[in-house]
Amino acid sequence: FPLHDPLDPASDTADLLALDRQHVWHPYGPMPGRQETLVVSSASGVRLRLASPAQGREELVDGMSSWWSAIHGYNHPVLNEAATSQLGRMSHVMFGGLTHEPAVRLAARLVEITPAGLEHVFLSDSGSVSVEVAVKMCLQYWRSLGRTGKTRLLTWRGGYHGDTWQPMAVCDPDGGMHELWQGHLPRQVFADAPPGDFDTPVDPVYADHLRSLVAAHADELAAVIVEPVVQGAGGMRFHHPGYLRLLRELCDEYGVLLILDEIATGFGRTGALFAADHAGITPDVMCLGKSLTGGYLTLAATLCTERVADGISQGEVPVLAHGPTFMGNPLATAVALASIDLLLGRDWTGEVKRIEAGLREGLAEASSVPGVKDVRVLGAIGVIQLDHPVDVWAATRAAVREGVWLRPFRDLIYTMPPFVTGDADVARICRAAVAAAQEG
Ligand code: PMP
Repeated sequence: FPLHDPLDPASDTADLLALDRQHVWHPYGPMPGRQETLVVSSASGVRLRLASPAQGREELVDGMSSWWSAIHGYNHPVLNEAATSQLGRMSHVMFGGLTHEPAVRLAARLVEITPAGLEHVFLSDSGSVSVEVAVKMCLQYWRSLGRTGKTRLLTWRGGYHGDTWQPMAVCDPDGGMHELWQGHLPRQVFADAPPGDFDTPVDPVYADHLRSLVAAHADELAAVIVEPVVQGAGGMRFHHPGYLRLLRELCDEYGVLLILDEIATGFGRTGALFAADHAGITPDVMCLGKSLTGGYLTLAATLCTERVADGISQGEVPVLAHGPTFMGNPLATAVALASIDLLLGRDWTGEVKRIEAGLREGLAEASSVPGVKDVRVLGAIGVIQLDHPVDVWAATRAAVREGVWLRPFRDLIYTMPPFVTGDADVARICRAAVAAAQEG
């Protein structure tokens, strides 16, 4: 079925869609393209403008922040200005042997705002690569110390850390997105996903489970890697920050490094600037991405402590052998700096709280929809979980009909709106999510 309203076959949009289907691969898409796509011609504030109407709508309120990233909405004058003024100076320059103000100032700013003790910043170009770098840092740290057996990672089930090799190896191994590759990926150690929700304190039985796994594998574990407080693309589950404190304690006790993947949770989404702040802990390594540039440009960062950097520098190969071509890209780092200033210069906690209240009120109605198993909200994240796999197209169409862009997957209809979304638009997103649950 077409999402766009019936198109004149000679229209530009029809041409674009035909070419898209013929040549363009989309995330998790089949080829040749059999996925329905909407053509977006521009975006401003929280609205996506369509090249031709879909379900009678010419624009859609964005309920997804382009997958967690567009926290300030689109076409923001401050971010536009940061990009264009940097463009006039230098859009890119190699980072080997050269440096520049936007990257240096961004690194210093990240060190200032992330949990105390994170001191060094590796700038890369995507979240997955920042996780690759994090894993490399930890493996190399132990190797430098002569602990060559410490090469494995422990994570909990239901996680998601990206689509390149090391991240795939720590995504949910059962029924997860990378199940196809399980036999080929490095074999990691999996704990159960933490039980409960954000408000349910640590379950002592689970704590024993985690402790016994860390203890049993301590000699071969380089690091524990988890998504703090929210397990995102693996199932949109929330857990109590106490689980992070527990992990910090276990890692310290058994000599294992702790990586927190804050690619989705960083920059306020859960109501704290970083999810680690809910627990008051500092990881050894932290990954950031997505909303780092307010969703404008592709940029990620891996931060580590002095201990990790120093350990690597003591090794027989005292360098971190990673150096992407677009490392520290000036445009992206300039926009990231502007995005951080924009966020911290506003009452962002108030914005997230307001959205949280709106989502709680608006999504409550979904609880009585047949087939809905759970409704949960944390910060500016709202989730409706069904008791069956969602019919993605029926659910998408229902949301679009309400004038909202949502991207359901598996058994989930979820939203993480830009922080600047007004109350009426939050309510509209909720109506769309409920309609998607009814029809999906
Ligand atoms: N980690 C987490 C927690 C993520 O949500 C994502 C992206 N969905 C990634 C890593 C991978 O980031 P990217 O898509 O930028 O490679």
